[in-house]
Amino acid sequence: MSDDPTEPAGLVASARQRLAPTIARVTRSAHGATVELTDQAGHIVWPEYAHGPNRLLALLAAEQRYLVEQTGADSTAGATYVDKARTREQGWVHQHLRARGSGPDATGGGLGWSMTSNLLARCRTCGEYLSLDPNDTASCLCGDLNKDMDAGRFGSRLGDGAIDIYQTRPGP
Ligand SMILES: [Zn+2]
Repeated sequence: MSDDPTEPAGLVASARQRLAPTIARVTRSAHGATVELTDQAGHIVWPEYAHGPNRLLALLAAEQRYLVEQTGADSTAGATYVDKARTREQGWVHQHLRARGSGPDATGGGLGWSMTSNLLARCRTCGEYLSLDPNDTASCLCGDLNKDMDAGRFGSRLGDGAIDIYQTRPGP
């Protein structure tokens, strides 16, 4: 089962670009998430290439390993690939996202949640991000954060106050 991360969209796209020409497939595993690399035809060229506590960090850990081993490029600071992945995530978030606080008020739409595609919600348990795009349904790796737009529901098992909201910065 492929279970690729989708958010933050720009960071995910950037990681996939750096992994080219291989394609990363991310699946849930005992580690949280595991990445295998395939060729363009879908054949596995590196099984279990990287692991991470969530799908985004597993993908970024694969990117960091690929940079070191395949391209010889400088990777980000950190003792392990997951440490490097966290540094990469934090750098991206600092540059491309703006923290707005937590809960429905942080979405700024008056009463309740304002569901718009320029907002992201982050799960405090597993650390994954979901877009607040009202046109799709999604949940984080651990399942605490759920967006079911068919049923008109969005929330966290930990309560609304445990949902951290980020806004994507306009620009390139
Ligand atoms: Zn979660």
